[in-house]
Amino acid sequence: MQVIIIGAGAAGLTSAAALAKAGHSVKVFDPNPKPGGVLQGWQENGFTWDLGQLLVEGFGKGEPVGDIFEALGCSDDIEIVKDDRRYVFPDFNIDKPEQYQGPKWRMEFLSQQFPEDKVGLERYWKDYIRFTRLMTIVRHMGGATGIQLFWKRMNMLASMLPFASRKDWNAEQVMSDYFKSPQLQAVFISILADFFTPPSQFQGLAVFALNSEASFDARLPKRIARGADQLFLYSIKGGTTTLVDALVKVIKNHHGQFHLNEYVTAIQIDDNQVKGVKTNLGNFYPADIIVASGGAKETFHQLVGDTYLPSEYIQQVDNLPIMDSIFMVHVGLDYDPSPTTGGVCTYYYRTYDIEGSIKESKTGVYHEGKYGFVIHQPSLRTPEMAPKGQHGLTLYTICPDKLATGDWESQKDYYTEKLLTYAEDSIPGLRKHIVTTVTLTPLDFQQLTHTEHHAFGGLAPIQGKSGIPHETPISGLWFVGHQSEGGGGVSAVVIQAYQTTTRILEKAS
Ligand SMILES: Cc1cc2nc3c(=O)[nH]c(=O)nc-3n(C[C@H](O)[C@H](O)[C@H](O)COP(=O)(O)OP(=O)(O)OC[C@H]3O[C@@H](n4cnc5c(N)ncnc54)[C@H](O)[C@@H]3O)c2cc1C
Repeated sequence: MQVIIIGAGAAGLTSAAALAKAGHSVKVFDPNPKPGGVLQGWQENGFTWDLGQLLVEGFGKGEPVGDIFEALGCSDDIEIVKDDRRYVFPDFNIDKPEQYQGPKWRMEFLSQQFPEDKVGLERYWKDYIRFTRLMTIVRHMGGATGIQLFWKRMNMLASMLPFASRKDWNAEQVMSDYFKSPQLQAVFISILADFFTPPSQFQGLAVFALNSEASFDARLPKRIARGADQLFLYSIKGGTTTLVDALVKVIKNHHGQFHLNEYVTAIQIDDNQVKGVKTNLGNFYPADIIVASGGAKETFHQLVGDTYLPSEYIQQVDNLPIMDSIFMVHVGLDYDPSPTTGGVCTYYYRTYDIEGSIKESKTGVYHEGKYGFVIHQPSLRTPEMAPKGQHGLTLYTICPDKLATGDWESQKDYYTEKLLTYAEDSIPGLRKHIVTTVTLTPLDFQQLTHTEHHAFGGLAPIQGKSGIPHETPISGLWFVGHQSEGGGGVSAVVIQAYQTTTRILEKAS
């Protein structure tokens, strides 16, 4: 088959690698001079910072993404280290103990901080184990057949029973059922800020998935209880470009071609079947299959055109809950800040009002760092990502894609200073160690992702709202990537692009 891949981000590269490896003729198009989409990183003055990833989930051997890289033949090219994240709240920090203290250390720590919620924390722990068991069964169901599949389904039903009465609850309801303290509730739902999803609109039981205990202490065992396996977080040695290089190598080794600095301007369709693509360079390339990634609205309104799509489908595209963007400051430092920041990735929350702060952001008001920020120090795991003896640090906050008042370009320097000022409350003296600063606003991310509205992680996982199916109403046209499923994230994007490609190959055989 002649295959065209629109977009060389994590999704497009995964599909391209799988299709090229299966022996098909693959051409990958991207407007950027380098492949990777938001994984291409940023280099300046000897520093390299990651853009679209901090810690990646499930990249290990026997884990979902690790298995995909194994199947593609590139797992040896992606060196990873188990890692964990640290949380800082206004009144306390969640720091893993110096000496490993067992899988329940976080529950015990939180019980000391919130004695009134000791019973709730015990109940939460029991359900966390049940949920992890359920996820383990679901993951393993893929390869099961016959009697094995029957037993796994029976097991799954049994594991689901305790959750049945709460299946339609939102995260706010689930949290207040477990805990009295609003501060403790915020501990478990604060990460929803990164999803632009107010807790009142988030599927309640998915809170367990946001709080993998292994993500707070990488020393936890994989098997936390009988039949309950957790996934780990990892840093990628060399940063996200290592992942991009590994996938590009697979594609090139199987004769796939890259058309960088060339983007698709139209998808040609005849009799509801894709015929090929036109590009900005005035070229036409024929195709039997097109796998599109990137913006959903841009793909379907501009590249396909409304006349080729059923009106309900267009409505679905227009109603997709697309997230907003990110304000990112990369700094090069002449010292190592990790004794203060405490690790490679720390989430600093300066408010417990997660619901209010997300809703405010959705009105176009930027919080400037007042409600919190995330820091990532890639050079801690890969010293080569900074000049000798120096360190790179990324600070970011979520932000509106478009400001209610003013514009990103003219306020970029002001917001950079504001964010660094807030950061100095937690990392004193940071500014006097800065040797290089690079600020990226939503405008930069719009350009990088070739979208009119930048969505940090794609679709917001809002309860009751779903993405569009990967198989489109047009024969031969498939849609993958962060705007095709709620939640985004590199791991999710790689898994769904790989699974979609498997379906394309099954249909073609
Ligand atoms: C700042 C930031 C931080 C993040 N942090 C995390 C994190 O900590 N954990 C996590 O799991 N995820 C994180 N993510 C999300 C994750 O990185 C992304 O969801 C994932 O990498 C998206 O991959 P993608 O291929 O879907 O999209 P992209 O990387 O956006 O790639 C799409 C590509 O398609 C190209 N394209 C668009 N239109 C066309 C066209 N017409 N023709 C040709 N090419 C086109 C674009 O230029 C782009 O290169 C982060 C994202 C960002 C932006």
